Amino acid sequence: MGAFEVQHQTREGLCETHGAFEDRGTVLPFGKREPKWAGCQQCNTIRQAEIEAADLAEQKRQRQRRMEQRLSQSGIPLRFRDRTIDNFVADTDAKRHALKIAAEFAESFDDHLHTGTTVVFSGKPGTGKSHLAIAAAMVVMKTNTALYLNALDLVRMVRDTWRRDSEMTESAVLTELSTVNLLVIDEIGMQYGTEGEQVILFDVLNRRYRDLMPTILLTNLGAKGMKEFLGERSFDRLREGGIWVAFDWESHRGLKKDEA
Ligand SMILES: [Zn+2]
Repeated sequence: MGAFEVQHQTREGLCETHGAFEDRGTVLPFGKREPKWAGCQQCNTIRQAEIEAADLAEQKRQRQRRMEQRLSQSGIPLRFRDRTIDNFVADTDAKRHALKIAAEFAESFDDHLHTGTTVVFSGKPGTGKSHLAIAAAMVVMKTNTALYLNALDLVRMVRDTWRRDSEMTESAVLTELSTVNLLVIDEIGMQYGTEGEQVILFDVLNRRYRDLMPTILLTNLGAKGMKEFLGERSFDRLREGGIWVAFDWESHRGLKKDEA
């Protein structure tokens, strides 16, 4: 036997739980000459499984923590956080189509992150646009960052940085809005007042378009209204590379009062 060979030995072992077993020993060529005994195979398997389960549980806890952190920064109102793909009631073909689009968008988000897909959910209030957009955003947030804002709040966020005592600069806020992986903007096309305020919204949309960042736009406007609001060029751009879903059914309001 060579000087550097690992030697194996066996002996009778007795486990308190599993009874008699054949214990395997290893003697390394250097260091201690006593064999290192493996012990009961069944006990080892159980211990290994426990370690793996604990690792998985820890990973799950960390994912959960990340998700909670993203959620708290997502802008999604508490009352909307129970909206999921699964609890959207799709009782017509049109609703099933909308649901399918939202689910597929969320599931293949990494592809959309490469192409910068813009999705428009167009329809009356109470048709479930916010429900599906938020449900998609929550799926996306398992692996990416997402932000949900009303158009008016988005404009305010930027405008507030113009105050002298503002903690954030305008460019920091614009960067945040244009780099978050998914931006959901609700209530697009409501009256915002000044032209300057609309310019802010277009600035964000243009940055995201330029940088190929996916955006979901929710609007009460139809195609004609969106064309007027966005302008012909932006609208054509949107129709070419984007996904347009018409939520053209009646409101669910009354069933879910807080659905916007
Ligand atoms: Zn054992």
